[in-house]
Amino acid sequence: MNLNALEFPRTLVRPELLHQECWLNGQWQGGDPDKRLPVINPATGAILAHVPNMGYSVTSQAIANAQSALAAWRARTGKQRSVILKRWAQLMHENADDLSNILTAEQGKPLNEASSEIAYAASFLDWFAEEAKRIDGDILQSPVSGQRLLVLRQPIGVCAAITPWNFPAAMITRKVGPALAAGCVIIVKPAEHTPLTALALAHLAYEAGVPGDVFQVVTGEPEEIGNALCESDIVRKLSFTGSTDVGRMLMAKCAPTVKKLSLELGGNAPFIVFDDADLDEAMDALMLAKFRNSGQTCICANRVFVQSGIYSALADKLIERTRALKIGDGSAEGIQQGPLIDGRAIRKIQALLEDAVSHGARIALGGHVHENGGTFFEPTIIQDLSKDMRISSEEIFGPVAALYRFDTEADVLELANASKCGLAAYLFTRDHARIWRMSEALEYGMVGVNTAAISNEVGPFGGIKHSGLGREGSKYGIDEYLETKYICMKV
Ligand code: ADP
Repeated sequence: MNLNALEFPRTLVRPELLHQECWLNGQWQGGDPDKRLPVINPATGAILAHVPNMGYSVTSQAIANAQSALAAWRARTGKQRSVILKRWAQLMHENADDLSNILTAEQGKPLNEASSEIAYAASFLDWFAEEAKRIDGDILQSPVSGQRLLVLRQPIGVCAAITPWNFPAAMITRKVGPALAAGCVIIVKPAEHTPLTALALAHLAYEAGVPGDVFQVVTGEPEEIGNALCESDIVRKLSFTGSTDVGRMLMAKCAPTVKKLSLELGGNAPFIVFDDADLDEAMDALMLAKFRNSGQTCICANRVFVQSGIYSALADKLIERTRALKIGDGSAEGIQQGPLIDGRAIRKIQALLEDAVSHGARIALGGHVHENGGTFFEPTIIQDLSKDMRISSEEIFGPVAALYRFDTEADVLELANASKCGLAAYLFTRDHARIWRMSEALEYGMVGVNTAAISNEVGPFGGIKHSGLGREGSKYGIDEYLETKYICMKV
């Protein structure tokens, strides 16, 4: 069942990439026609499509399909799996315009950001296609004569992934790429806001040669699908990206079956600018780290700490550049900021701003729903903040730059580390001794030094403390889908 292309803001070259069914066991399955879920374009409020509202039993069936698929997939050589992953990446590049259009339509980000995401998403398939060929074991020296100690690295088995709406393509390939490379099979539950990108990826995966039961996509009721995945003893690994609250709950639900977990959860990134920083470089990075994806990324600058000597100059420039941002439907040319994902996101930002203002903060720019209405929000700058305001400890997840003034390195380090989260931090200074001191002392999984462009397939992405467990991408990412087996052999 293909969608009427007219419902989409832009015509697709290959309308067959749009699916309104789940991809299960190599078939498109529609589920109960009376229980379908709408997919909304956040820029217009229009219904783009409906997807099945699957639940516990269909998910259990998908798990059984995956279990049957495992033996054949893990028996393929790393090189064979690599060829398929490379082909899938290639198909993503060839269909990048259609994928970007689908992504923008259901998620809202500007088209240029969507196409960057598609390239970023494909890079994980390419990267892990290479890693598939390098899953090597080891032979250890025995402390006892007459023995050989061998280490094998084997696929963990049936995996599950629950993914968010802010990067509907990349958060899938960053999990599915290493899983398939390792010889695992995987079931993905995409976010309810953005299932169409996931289903288009499944279409291309199948075209590339990924068997239909090796990578399946189930849409529907998050809690029921989540329960089926967490409670199953067949599923040996869950990889989740999303909020800390849901991650914590899934972790508890996986405890009875002692599943291996990767959790990429919320952040509260400090963005620290010292007096000696290159102001223009810091400004470019701040615009990216704050307003990319309308501020809806887990590594967004949540607290912007600026040293006193440069504070006014930075604030003035930030106001000037933020005021110039072009807001609108992400599918139109030249738009720099699209809508937020839904009304709940708007209400969260409003509540944080109200709380801050009632405690003495000052809004220097924006602060309201944008004149476009709907879920568009004005890019906002708020100043005179203090650490006891909600905005200082909660993830904003929206286009609000929160500015704090600081005096000394010791002060800002204490403020930056006073968070339960520990995902990304940013640091701007020309002093190399300080770069080392601060990078080592910041309690974060990732530190951007004089840059905010830290996400790529080569670096290990992940956080510490309440920001989660495990690392994605990089040469370390494949370990999340492998078990280590030790063989002690008498010779
Ligand atoms: P956000 O608040 O940004 O939407 P969530 O953590 O709620 O972040 O969502 C991330 C993913 O977790 C989505 O795929 C969502 O459907 C899923 N999710 C939310 N609640 C549950 C749940 N109770 N069980 C399983 N998955 C869930």
